Amino acid sequence: MTRTALLSLDDALPQLLAQARALTDSQWVSTFEADGRVLAQDVASALQVPPQDNSSMDGYAVRVADCVQAGAVLCVTQRIPAGTQGTQINAGEAARIFTGAPIPMGADAVVMQEDCDALEDGQVKVNKAVPAGQWVRRSGEDVTRGATVLNKGTRLTPAELGLAASIGLAQLQVSIRPRVALFSTGDELVMPGDVAPEAMPAGAIYNSNRFFLRAMLQRLGCEVTDLGIVPDKREATIAALRDAAQHHDLILTSGGVSVGEEDHIKPAVESLGELNLWQLAIKPGKPFAYGKVNREAGTDACHFMGLPGNPVSSFVTFLLLVRPFVLTLQGVTQTDIARTDMTANFDWPRADKRREFLRVKRNAQGGLDLFPNQSSGVLTSAVWGDGVVDNPAGQTVAKGDTVRFISFAEWLV
Ligand code: AMP
Ligand code: MG
Repeated sequence: MTRTALLSLDDALPQLLAQARALTDSQWVSTFEADGRVLAQDVASALQVPPQDNSSMDGYAVRVADCVQAGAVLCVTQRIPAGTQGTQINAGEAARIFTGAPIPMGADAVVMQEDCDALEDGQVKVNKAVPAGQWVRRSGEDVTRGATVLNKGTRLTPAELGLAASIGLAQLQVSIRPRVALFSTGDELVMPGDVAPEAMPAGAIYNSNRFFLRAMLQRLGCEVTDLGIVPDKREATIAALRDAAQHHDLILTSGGVSVGEEDHIKPAVESLGELNLWQLAIKPGKPFAYGKVNREAGTDACHFMGLPGNPVSSFVTFLLLVRPFVLTLQGVTQTDIARTDMTANFDWPRADKRREFLRVKRNAQGGLDLFPNQSSGVLTSAVWGDGVVDNPAGQTVAKGDTVRFISFAEWLV
Protein backbone atom coordinates (compact mmCIF):
# COMPACT_ATOMS: atom_id res chain seq x y z
CA MET A 1 0.00 0.00 0.00
CA THR A 2 1.18 3.52 -0.74
CA ARG A 3 0.05 6.62 1.12
CA THR A 4 1.70 9.84 2.19
CA ALA A 5 -0.27 11.47 5.04
CA LEU A 6 -0.67 9.50 8.25
CA LEU A 7 -4.15 8.20 8.96
CA SER A 8 -5.96 9.75 11.93
CA LEU A 9 -7.18 7.52 14.74
CA ASP A 10 -10.75 8.69 14.11
CA ASP A 11 -10.49 7.48 10.51
CA ALA A 12 -8.63 4.28 11.31
CA LEU A 13 -10.74 2.94 14.15
CA PRO A 14 -14.06 2.66 12.28
CA GLN A 15 -12.25 1.02 9.34
CA LEU A 16 -10.68 -1.43 11.72
CA LEU A 17 -13.88 -2.25 13.55
CA ALA A 18 -15.73 -2.70 10.26
CA GLN A 19 -13.34 -5.61 9.60
CA ALA A 20 -14.00 -7.18 12.99
CA ARG A 21 -17.17 -9.11 12.26
CA ALA A 22 -18.33 -10.80 15.42
CA LEU A 23 -17.45 -14.48 15.65
CA THR A 24 -20.72 -16.31 15.25
CA ASP A 25 -20.12 -19.33 17.48
CA SER A 26 -21.27 -19.32 21.06
CA GLN A 27 -21.02 -21.69 23.99
CA TRP A 28 -22.75 -22.33 27.31
CA VAL A 29 -20.66 -21.66 30.38
CA SER A 30 -21.39 -21.89 34.07
CA THR A 31 -22.54 -18.55 35.47
CA PHE A 32 -19.63 -18.91 37.90
CA GLU A 33 -17.21 -18.89 34.96
CA ALA A 34 -18.87 -16.13 32.95
CA ASP A 35 -17.12 -13.06 34.41
CA GLY A 36 -15.70 -11.00 31.53
CA ARG A 37 -17.45 -13.04 28.82
CA VAL A 38 -19.91 -11.51 26.36
CA LEU A 39 -23.57 -12.56 26.23
CA ALA A 40 -24.52 -14.18 22.93
CA GLN A 41 -28.27 -13.81 23.46
CA ASP A 42 -30.73 -11.66 25.39
CA VAL A 43 -31.62 -13.01 28.80
CA ALA A 44 -35.27 -12.85 29.89
CA SER A 45 -36.64 -13.73 33.29
CA ALA A 46 -39.01 -16.67 33.77
CA LEU A 47 -40.09 -15.35 37.15
CA GLN A 48 -40.52 -12.15 39.07
CA VAL A 49 -37.97 -11.01 41.64
CA PRO A 50 -38.71 -10.91 44.51
CA PRO A 51 -41.20 -13.72 43.96
CA GLN A 52 -43.49 -12.49 46.78
CA ASP A 53 -44.01 -9.35 48.86
CA ASN A 54 -41.53 -9.68 51.72
CA SER A 55 -40.22 -7.82 54.71
CA SER A 56 -37.15 -5.58 54.46
CA MET A 57 -36.82 -5.42 58.27
CA ASP A 58 -36.82 -7.59 61.35
CA GLY A 59 -40.02 -6.59 63.18
CA TYR A 60 -43.75 -7.21 63.04
CA ALA A 61 -46.12 -7.57 60.11
CA VAL A 62 -49.30 -5.65 60.89
CA ARG A 63 -52.58 -4.36 59.48
CA VAL A 64 -52.26 -0.62 58.94
CA ALA A 65 -55.91 -0.20 59.97
CA ASP A 66 -54.91 -1.42 63.47
CA CYS A 67 -52.04 1.07 63.78
CA VAL A 68 -53.37 4.46 62.67
CA GLN A 69 -52.25 5.91 65.99
CA ALA A 70 -49.09 5.33 68.03
CA GLY A 71 -49.47 2.94 70.98
CA ALA A 72 -51.58 0.16 69.39
CA VAL A 73 -51.33 -3.16 71.28
CA LEU A 74 -51.56 -6.27 69.09
CA CYS A 75 -51.58 -9.99 69.75
CA VAL A 76 -48.56 -11.80 68.19
CA THR A 77 -50.06 -14.95 66.69
CA GLN A 78 -47.20 -16.36 64.57
CA ARG A 79 -43.51 -16.23 63.79
CA ILE A 80 -42.25 -16.06 60.18
CA PRO A 81 -38.49 -16.48 59.65
CA ALA A 82 -37.05 -16.10 56.11
CA GLY A 83 -37.66 -19.23 54.08
CA THR A 84 -41.05 -20.01 55.66
CA GLN A 85 -44.59 -19.01 54.79
CA GLY A 86 -46.99 -17.52 57.39
CA THR A 87 -50.78 -17.69 57.56
CA GLN A 88 -53.49 -15.04 57.47
CA ILE A 89 -53.47 -12.38 60.20
CA ASN A 90 -56.74 -10.93 61.43
CA ALA A 91 -57.80 -7.64 63.02
CA GLY A 92 -55.86 -6.98 66.24
CA GLU A 93 -53.09 -9.45 65.34
CA ALA A 94 -49.41 -9.11 64.36
CA ALA A 95 -46.83 -11.60 63.06
CA ARG A 96 -43.26 -11.62 64.27
CA ILE A 97 -41.34 -11.37 60.96
CA PHE A 98 -37.72 -11.35 59.80
CA THR A 99 -35.95 -9.77 56.83
CA GLY A 100 -36.76 -11.60 53.59
CA ALA A 101 -39.78 -13.49 54.98
CA PRO A 102 -43.01 -13.30 52.94
CA ILE A 103 -45.66 -10.86 54.19
CA PRO A 104 -48.60 -12.94 55.48
CA MET A 105 -52.10 -12.54 54.04
CA GLY A 106 -53.97 -9.73 55.72
CA ALA A 107 -50.86 -7.72 56.64
CA ASP A 108 -50.03 -4.58 54.66
CA ALA A 109 -47.00 -3.12 56.47
CA VAL A 110 -44.06 -3.99 58.71
CA VAL A 111 -42.99 -2.18 61.87
CA MET A 112 -39.33 -2.48 62.67
CA GLN A 113 -38.60 -4.05 66.04
CA GLU A 114 -36.87 -0.85 67.23
CA ASP A 115 -40.28 0.88 67.04
CA CYS A 116 -42.04 -1.76 69.19
CA ASP A 117 -42.10 -3.04 72.77
CA ALA A 118 -42.62 -6.77 73.16
CA LEU A 119 -44.99 -7.22 76.13
CA GLU A 120 -44.85 -10.23 78.47
CA ASP A 121 -48.16 -11.83 77.54
CA GLY A 122 -47.50 -12.45 73.83
CA GLN A 123 -48.51 -8.95 72.84
CA VAL A 124 -46.61 -6.18 71.12
CA LYS A 125 -47.00 -2.42 71.54
CA VAL A 126 -46.44 -0.44 68.33
CA ASN A 127 -44.99 2.93 69.33
CA LYS A 128 -45.54 4.77 66.05
CA ALA A 129 -48.36 5.17 63.57
CA VAL A 130 -47.71 2.90 60.57
CA PRO A 131 -47.99 4.09 56.97
CA ALA A 132 -49.31 1.61 54.39
CA GLY A 133 -46.62 -0.47 52.71
CA GLN A 134 -43.90 0.44 55.21
CA TRP A 135 -40.81 -1.87 54.98
CA VAL A 136 -42.47 -4.09 52.41
CA ARG A 137 -40.46 -5.11 49.35
CA ARG A 138 -42.98 -5.61 46.55
CA SER A 139 -42.97 -8.74 44.42
CA GLY A 140 -41.47 -7.95 41.02
CA GLU A 141 -39.95 -4.66 42.14
CA ASP A 142 -36.52 -5.86 40.98
CA VAL A 143 -37.48 -7.95 37.91
CA THR A 144 -40.87 -8.51 36.31
CA ARG A 145 -41.70 -11.87 34.72
CA GLY A 146 -40.74 -11.95 31.03
CA ALA A 147 -38.55 -8.86 31.22
CA THR A 148 -35.25 -8.80 29.33
CA VAL A 149 -32.77 -8.26 32.12
CA LEU A 150 -29.50 -8.56 30.17
CA ASN A 151 -28.84 -7.80 26.54
CA LYS A 152 -26.87 -9.68 23.92
CA GLY A 153 -23.45 -8.05 23.52
CA THR A 154 -23.13 -7.19 27.21
CA ARG A 155 -19.74 -7.86 28.72
CA LEU A 156 -20.51 -9.59 31.98
CA THR A 157 -19.25 -8.23 35.29
CA PRO A 158 -19.90 -9.59 38.79
CA ALA A 159 -23.16 -7.61 39.11
CA GLU A 160 -24.58 -9.25 35.96
CA LEU A 161 -23.62 -12.71 37.23
CA GLY A 162 -25.57 -12.03 40.42
CA LEU A 163 -28.60 -10.80 38.47
CA ALA A 164 -28.50 -13.87 36.20
CA ALA A 165 -28.36 -16.11 39.26
CA SER A 166 -31.29 -14.22 40.83
CA ILE A 167 -33.49 -15.37 37.96
CA GLY A 168 -32.28 -18.94 38.25
CA LEU A 169 -29.65 -19.19 35.51
CA ALA A 170 -26.79 -21.56 36.28
CA GLN A 171 -25.47 -21.34 32.70
CA LEU A 172 -25.14 -18.49 30.26
CA GLN A 173 -24.71 -18.50 26.51
CA VAL A 174 -21.62 -16.45 25.65
CA SER A 175 -19.54 -15.76 22.55
CA ILE A 176 -16.59 -18.05 22.02
CA ARG A 177 -13.21 -16.68 22.99
CA PRO A 178 -11.22 -15.20 20.08
CA ARG A 179 -8.13 -17.32 19.46
CA VAL A 180 -5.18 -14.97 19.40
CA ALA A 181 -1.61 -15.88 18.44
CA LEU A 182 0.89 -13.55 20.10
CA PHE A 183 4.50 -13.14 19.14
CA SER A 184 7.31 -10.71 19.80
CA THR A 185 9.99 -9.84 17.29
CA GLY A 186 13.48 -8.59 18.04
CA ASP A 187 16.84 -10.37 18.13
CA GLU A 188 17.79 -8.21 21.13
CA LEU A 189 15.05 -9.73 23.28
CA VAL A 190 15.74 -12.24 26.02
CA MET A 191 13.29 -13.76 28.44
CA PRO A 192 13.30 -12.99 32.15
CA GLY A 193 14.28 -16.23 33.85
CA ASP A 194 16.37 -17.42 30.90
CA VAL A 195 19.16 -14.92 31.50
CA ALA A 196 19.99 -13.37 34.88
CA PRO A 197 20.34 -9.57 35.00
CA GLU A 198 24.08 -9.79 35.74
CA ALA A 199 24.61 -12.11 32.77
CA MET A 200 22.80 -9.97 30.18
CA PRO A 201 24.82 -9.90 26.93
CA ALA A 202 25.68 -6.47 25.50
CA GLY A 203 22.77 -5.06 23.53
CA ALA A 204 20.19 -7.41 25.00
CA ILE A 205 16.99 -6.29 26.75
CA TYR A 206 14.23 -8.24 28.44
CA ASN A 207 11.02 -8.88 26.58
CA SER A 208 8.49 -6.82 28.49
CA ASN A 209 5.77 -6.43 25.85
CA ARG A 210 5.05 -10.14 25.88
CA PHE A 211 3.98 -9.96 29.50
CA PHE A 212 1.52 -7.09 29.36
CA LEU A 213 0.12 -7.98 25.94
CA ARG A 214 -0.65 -11.53 27.04
CA ALA A 215 -2.24 -10.30 30.29
CA MET A 216 -4.36 -7.70 28.51
CA LEU A 217 -5.58 -10.22 25.92
CA GLN A 218 -6.54 -12.65 28.65
CA ARG A 219 -8.40 -9.96 30.58
CA LEU A 220 -10.38 -9.26 27.42
CA GLY A 221 -11.54 -12.85 27.13
CA CYS A 222 -9.09 -14.10 24.49
CA GLU A 223 -7.57 -17.55 24.30
CA VAL A 224 -3.90 -16.76 23.79
CA THR A 225 -1.32 -18.92 22.04
CA ASP A 226 1.99 -17.38 23.03
CA LEU A 227 4.48 -18.12 20.25
CA GLY A 228 7.38 -16.42 22.01
CA ILE A 229 10.07 -14.52 20.17
CA VAL A 230 10.42 -14.76 16.41
CA PRO A 231 13.86 -13.92 14.98
CA ASP A 232 14.34 -10.80 12.82
CA LYS A 233 14.48 -12.86 9.61
CA ARG A 234 12.10 -12.64 6.69
CA GLU A 235 11.66 -16.41 6.28
CA ALA A 236 11.15 -17.02 9.99
CA THR A 237 8.60 -14.22 10.16
CA ILE A 238 6.69 -15.54 7.15
CA ALA A 239 6.69 -19.05 8.56
CA ALA A 240 5.44 -17.88 11.96
CA LEU A 241 2.62 -15.83 10.41
CA ARG A 242 1.59 -18.55 7.99
CA ASP A 243 1.41 -21.21 10.70
CA ALA A 244 -0.39 -19.01 13.20
CA ALA A 245 -3.01 -17.94 10.63
CA GLN A 246 -4.34 -21.50 10.23
CA HIS A 247 -5.91 -21.86 13.65
CA HIS A 248 -6.35 -18.36 15.04
CA ASP A 249 -8.74 -15.47 14.60
CA LEU A 250 -6.07 -12.83 15.15
CA ILE A 251 -2.28 -12.66 15.05
CA LEU A 252 -0.86 -9.95 17.29
CA THR A 253 2.81 -9.03 17.02
CA SER A 254 5.04 -6.47 18.66
CA GLY A 255 8.06 -4.83 17.07
CA GLY A 256 9.48 -5.08 13.58
CA VAL A 257 6.76 -3.02 11.96
CA SER A 258 8.72 0.17 11.25
CA VAL A 259 10.74 0.94 8.14
CA GLY A 260 14.22 -0.38 8.99
CA GLU A 261 15.90 -3.26 7.20
CA GLU A 262 15.39 -5.36 10.31
CA ASP A 263 11.63 -4.79 10.23
CA HIS A 264 10.19 -7.81 8.46
CA ILE A 265 6.60 -7.84 9.61
CA LYS A 266 5.12 -5.56 6.98
CA PRO A 267 6.57 -7.26 3.88
CA ALA A 268 5.85 -10.67 5.41
CA VAL A 269 2.15 -9.83 5.86
CA GLU A 270 1.99 -8.40 2.34
CA SER A 271 3.45 -11.60 0.94
CA LEU A 272 0.85 -13.76 2.72
CA GLY A 273 -2.22 -11.56 2.43
CA GLU A 274 -2.74 -7.84 2.55
CA LEU A 275 -1.90 -4.84 4.66
CA ASN A 276 -4.92 -2.55 5.03
CA LEU A 277 -3.72 0.05 7.50
CA TRP A 278 -0.24 1.19 8.38
CA GLN A 279 1.01 4.16 10.38
CA LEU A 280 -1.33 6.35 12.36
CA ALA A 281 -1.08 10.00 13.40
CA ILE A 282 -0.77 9.15 17.08
CA LYS A 283 2.06 9.45 19.59
CA PRO A 284 3.12 7.07 20.89
CA GLY A 285 2.14 4.34 18.45
CA LYS A 286 2.71 5.57 14.91
CA PRO A 287 3.92 2.27 13.36
CA PHE A 288 0.64 0.38 14.05
CA ALA A 289 -0.40 -1.99 11.24
CA TYR A 290 -3.54 -3.97 10.41
CA GLY A 291 -3.96 -6.56 7.70
CA LYS A 292 -4.97 -10.09 6.87
CA VAL A 293 -3.01 -13.30 6.48
CA ASN A 294 -4.57 -15.89 4.17
CA ARG A 295 -5.27 -19.40 5.35
CA GLU A 296 -4.34 -22.48 3.37
CA ALA A 297 -7.88 -23.82 3.51
CA GLY A 298 -9.07 -20.72 1.65
CA THR A 299 -11.55 -19.87 4.41
CA ASP A 300 -11.74 -16.33 5.78
CA ALA A 301 -8.31 -14.81 6.27
CA CYS A 302 -6.85 -14.39 9.74
CA HIS A 303 -6.75 -10.85 11.13
CA PHE A 304 -3.31 -9.40 11.73
CA MET A 305 -2.40 -6.52 14.03
CA GLY A 306 1.17 -5.33 14.36
CA LEU A 307 2.08 -3.17 17.34
CA PRO A 308 5.22 -1.08 17.62
CA GLY A 309 8.10 -2.49 19.66
CA ASN A 310 8.59 0.40 22.06
CA PRO A 311 6.80 -0.74 25.19
CA VAL A 312 4.66 2.35 25.79
CA SER A 313 3.71 2.46 22.11
CA SER A 314 2.72 -1.17 22.30
CA PHE A 315 0.73 -0.60 25.48
CA VAL A 316 -1.16 2.43 24.17
CA THR A 317 -1.91 1.03 20.71
CA PHE A 318 -3.22 -2.13 22.34
CA LEU A 319 -5.69 -0.12 24.38
CA LEU A 320 -6.70 2.19 21.53
CA LEU A 321 -7.03 -0.41 18.78
CA VAL A 322 -6.68 -4.04 19.84
CA ARG A 323 -9.02 -3.74 22.80
CA PRO A 324 -12.05 -2.54 20.81
CA PHE A 325 -11.19 -5.02 18.06
CA VAL A 326 -11.20 -8.13 20.24
CA LEU A 327 -14.32 -6.94 22.05
CA THR A 328 -16.07 -6.44 18.71
CA LEU A 329 -15.05 -9.98 17.69
CA GLN A 330 -16.98 -11.14 20.75
CA GLY A 331 -20.07 -9.15 19.80
CA VAL A 332 -19.66 -6.17 22.13
CA THR A 333 -21.39 -3.23 20.49
CA GLN A 334 -20.19 -0.41 22.76
CA THR A 335 -16.39 -0.36 22.83
CA ASP A 336 -15.73 3.36 23.30
CA ILE A 337 -13.86 4.38 26.40
CA ALA A 338 -14.98 7.39 28.41
CA ARG A 339 -12.97 10.62 28.37
CA THR A 340 -13.45 12.82 31.44
CA ASP A 341 -12.78 16.55 31.45
CA MET A 342 -10.09 17.32 34.03
CA THR A 343 -7.76 20.17 34.88
CA ALA A 344 -4.11 19.95 33.85
CA ASN A 345 -1.68 20.93 36.59
CA PHE A 346 1.16 20.86 34.09
CA ASP A 347 2.44 22.64 31.01
CA TRP A 348 2.94 20.87 27.69
CA PRO A 349 4.36 23.67 25.60
CA ARG A 350 5.36 21.78 22.45
CA ALA A 351 2.45 20.94 20.17
CA ASP A 352 2.88 17.79 18.08
CA LYS A 353 1.51 17.10 14.62
CA ARG A 354 0.15 13.83 15.96
CA ARG A 355 -2.59 13.25 18.54
CA GLU A 356 -0.80 12.47 21.78
CA PHE A 357 -1.56 10.18 24.70
CA LEU A 358 0.32 11.64 27.67
CA ARG A 359 0.84 9.54 30.78
CA VAL A 360 -0.56 11.39 33.78
CA LYS A 361 -1.68 10.82 37.34
CA ARG A 362 -4.59 12.29 39.31
CA ASN A 363 -3.38 14.39 42.22
CA ALA A 364 -4.86 15.30 45.60
CA GLN A 365 -6.16 18.62 44.20
CA GLY A 366 -8.35 16.76 41.71
CA GLY A 367 -6.12 17.75 38.79
CA LEU A 368 -3.57 15.89 36.69
CA ASP A 369 0.21 15.69 37.00
CA LEU A 370 2.39 14.75 34.02
CA PHE A 371 5.08 12.07 34.11
CA PRO A 372 8.27 13.97 33.30
CA ASN A 373 9.61 11.48 30.75
CA GLN A 374 7.10 10.85 27.94
CA SER A 375 9.49 8.76 25.85
CA SER A 376 7.79 5.73 24.30
CA GLY A 377 10.44 3.44 25.73
CA VAL A 378 9.83 4.42 29.36
CA LEU A 379 7.39 1.90 30.76
CA THR A 380 7.69 3.46 34.22
CA SER A 381 5.35 6.19 32.91
CA ALA A 382 2.53 3.65 32.55
CA VAL A 383 3.08 2.32 36.05
CA TRP A 384 3.43 5.73 37.72
CA GLY A 385 0.47 7.05 35.73
CA ASP A 386 -3.15 6.11 36.30
CA GLY A 387 -4.25 7.12 32.84
CA VAL A 388 -3.55 9.27 29.80
CA VAL A 389 -4.53 12.67 28.50
CA ASP A 390 -5.97 12.36 25.01
CA ASN A 391 -4.42 15.51 23.54
CA PRO A 392 -5.55 16.59 20.04
CA ALA A 393 -2.97 17.08 17.29
CA GLY A 394 -1.39 20.52 17.28
CA GLN A 395 -2.49 21.31 20.83
CA THR A 396 -0.38 22.73 23.66
CA VAL A 397 -1.46 22.50 27.28
CA ALA A 398 -1.02 25.18 29.94
CA LYS A 399 -1.65 24.81 33.67
CA GLY A 400 -5.37 25.23 34.35
CA ASP A 401 -6.51 24.03 30.92
CA THR A 402 -9.26 21.45 30.68
CA VAL A 403 -8.02 18.21 29.12
CA ARG A 404 -9.59 14.85 28.31
CA PHE A 405 -8.53 12.07 30.69
CA ILE A 406 -8.82 8.31 30.13
CA SER A 407 -8.46 6.18 33.25
CA PHE A 408 -6.38 2.99 33.09
CA ALA A 409 -8.72 1.53 35.72
CA GLU A 410 -11.53 1.54 33.15
CA TRP A 411 -9.39 0.90 30.13
CA LEU A 412 -7.56 -2.16 31.37
CA VAL A 413 -10.60 -4.20 32.33
P1 AMP B 1 11.06 -2.11 16.79
O1 AMP B 1 9.65 -1.68 16.67
O2 AMP B 1 11.25 -3.56 16.55
O3 AMP B 1 11.96 -1.26 15.94
O4 AMP B 1 11.48 -1.85 18.30
C1 AMP B 1 11.47 -0.53 18.83
C2 AMP B 1 12.12 -0.52 20.18
O5 AMP B 1 11.33 -1.31 21.08
C3 AMP B 1 13.50 -1.10 20.23
O6 AMP B 1 14.28 -0.34 21.13
C4 AMP B 1 13.29 -2.50 20.75
O7 AMP B 1 14.41 -3.01 21.40
C5 AMP B 1 12.13 -2.30 21.69
N1 AMP B 1 11.33 -3.52 21.82
C6 AMP B 1 10.83 -4.25 20.80
N2 AMP B 1 10.17 -5.30 21.23
C7 AMP B 1 10.20 -5.25 22.59
C8 AMP B 1 9.69 -6.07 23.62
N3 AMP B 1 8.98 -7.18 23.33
N4 AMP B 1 9.94 -5.73 24.89
C9 AMP B 1 10.67 -4.63 25.18
N5 AMP B 1 11.16 -3.81 24.25
C10 AMP B 1 10.95 -4.11 22.96
MG1 MG C 1 12.80 -4.75 16.22
